[in-house]
Amino acid sequence: NTFAEIDLGEALNQNIRRCKYVKPTPVQRHAIPISLAGRDLMACAQTGSGKTAAFCFPIISGIMRGQPVQRPPRGVRTVYPLALVLSPTRELSMQIHEEARKFSYQTGVRVVVAYGGAPINQQMRDLERGVDILVATPGRLVDLLERARVSLQMIRYLALDEADRMLDMGFEPQIRKIVEQMDMPPPGVRQTMLFSATFPKEIQRLASDFLSNYIFLAV
Ligand code: AMP
Repeated sequence: NTFAEIDLGEALNQNIRRCKYVKPTPVQRHAIPISLAGRDLMACAQTGSGKTAAFCFPIISGIMRGQPVQRPPRGVRTVYPLALVLSPTRELSMQIHEEARKFSYQTGVRVVVAYGGAPINQQMRDLERGVDILVATPGRLVDLLERARVSLQMIRYLALDEADRMLDMGFEPQIRKIVEQMDMPPPGVRQTMLFSATFPKEIQRLASDFLSNYIFLAV
């Protein structure tokens, strides 16, 4: 019932202690073991429930402990993140980025953020330095994909945060375009986590299109 009991890897456990997280929140207590076991997940989670850590911890832990991946040689400018976190707004993306960076301190896992409404040039420079986890809003990511700055071919973890809000904002076409660009790996190779506060038909359809054999978590 404490983070110390969950083996996320020494560096990450140390960062969790540094953040003064001791007890997992309900969504963390259930989502983290499911994700560490490699299962896809659709979770009901409100703002403030601790969902950021719920998807960041398994991603960081998985990247740290995963087999070293053979990424294609970086094209002149194309980078190949291993994990993608999609979020509806610039503010939320910045927040996720900030937390993810704290959690990945000294793990070797590199986190970059890209959102709309800000100059793309600095974001492209950030990407060129290398990225393992990309946090992005859907519109800006489509732009980066069209410029061939990012390839989603190596994505092993996909987290959709506040999926209902992304659909309310009209991002469904962009989200579908993004997910279509991920390799179609054998089942189980790409792990997907979908977080949403509500579960209308549209969200259930996204889940059945993007997730495989998933666990539905309502806490
Ligand atoms: P979130 O729902 O991910 O936006 O998190 C809400 C707030 O709770 C953030 O400020 C987190 O840093 C904090 N938080 C998340 N999980 C924990 C935890 N297990 N213990 C203490 N604080 C936490």
